[in-house]
Amino acid sequence: MYAKVSLTDVSVGYEPGRPVLHNIDLNIEPGEILSLLGPSGCGKSTLLRAIAGLQTLSSGTIEVGGVTVDGPGVHFPPHRRRVGMVFQDGALFPHLSVSQNIEFGLRGVDDAADRVQELLRIVELEGFADRRPDTLSGGQRQRVALARALAPRPSVLLLDEPFSALDPGMRVQLRRDVRRILSQVGITAIVVTHDQDEAFVLGDRVAVMRDGRVRQIGPSTELYDRPDDRWVAEFVGEANLIKGVISGEHQVVTAFGQHEVHGPNLGGFEPNGLVDVLIRPEHLVVTSLEARSSSSADDRPLVPVNVESAEYFGHDVLYEVSGADQVFSVRSTDTSLSPGDSTAVRYVGPPVQIWHRSNS
Ligand code: ATP
Repeated sequence: MYAKVSLTDVSVGYEPGRPVLHNIDLNIEPGEILSLLGPSGCGKSTLLRAIAGLQTLSSGTIEVGGVTVDGPGVHFPPHRRRVGMVFQDGALFPHLSVSQNIEFGLRGVDDAADRVQELLRIVELEGFADRRPDTLSGGQRQRVALARALAPRPSVLLLDEPFSALDPGMRVQLRRDVRRILSQVGITAIVVTHDQDEAFVLGDRVAVMRDGRVRQIGPSTELYDRPDDRWVAEFVGEANLIKGVISGEHQVVTAFGQHEVHGPNLGGFEPNGLVDVLIRPEHLVVTSLEARSSSSADDRPLVPVNVESAEYFGHDVLYEVSGADQVFSVRSTDTSLSPGDSTAVRYVGPPVQIWHRSNS
């Protein structure tokens, strides 16, 4: 059964007068996977704990599947919320086998043995039923933790940094597995992470939190291409803030030529006003000046730059370059450039996002 989760005006504090969550309004649709992304200490775990019933609210209401589980005079204990949890370290019982761990939440259930078998199949650990947790890899342990949380058929699954104890290769594999398992089971889920890749890959939508508030919520493409503010822009990826001048309705000019501006962002900007323009490094292509073709159909200017530094990532390189009186980043699959080289870059991206010029 898919359940909607609704938070209305939720505030939480550990000490009187010092809220950690401020007036959060959040709706997670039935069957949706929401990533909660934010820096350390912004309140992600506190929000998850509040939904689980492990944390009392200072104010506000929480509904799960249309039932008010928290609100004025109401506080359902965790076991009455139909909410499952998976923690960072799995928190398996070390003295129990894999199947006993999964069965733990099924005491008193008639078809418990069948359910354990079904879950072992779903998490692809059928051959591991009798193993102890300490004989499993970190990724396998987390799949057991997931199976244990799913066993009582919760309506909502909460995952708190489920991959952070794993090495990078395993993290990538496990997040694929988790995405597949959650889709297969069909459950509303909230995944807390401070890792942008993880949030983007797992979430149907991503809620970006800062200082106990949700700054922006939306599909990952929207957050990346149309962040509401500079902070979100920089938190969800590499961001160049390039000097620009408003040149007309929905138009801005930078050293890279004329750009169309995303519509909703234009209020309050004066004609000829100075702005910062968000340009992602992968929207600048390296094109050496010698290679400039007179027959090129692209009339955007080539901006001469000097390479200041190069960070090699295997699949591409992040160059820091200087040109047009600015220093900015360019991501390129051309790995041949070194610090000190001269080249040129051209803008090839979508419409841009702008903000009033910052003083910094
Ligand atoms: P992280 O990514 O580091 O886990 P987070 O975003 O999940 O961080 P929380 O763990 O929710 O953040 O903490 C939010 C704030 O509440 C922090 O300032 C933290 O120090 C504080 N806090 C958390 N738990 C308690 C507690 N039990 N008592 C007092 N303050 C707490």
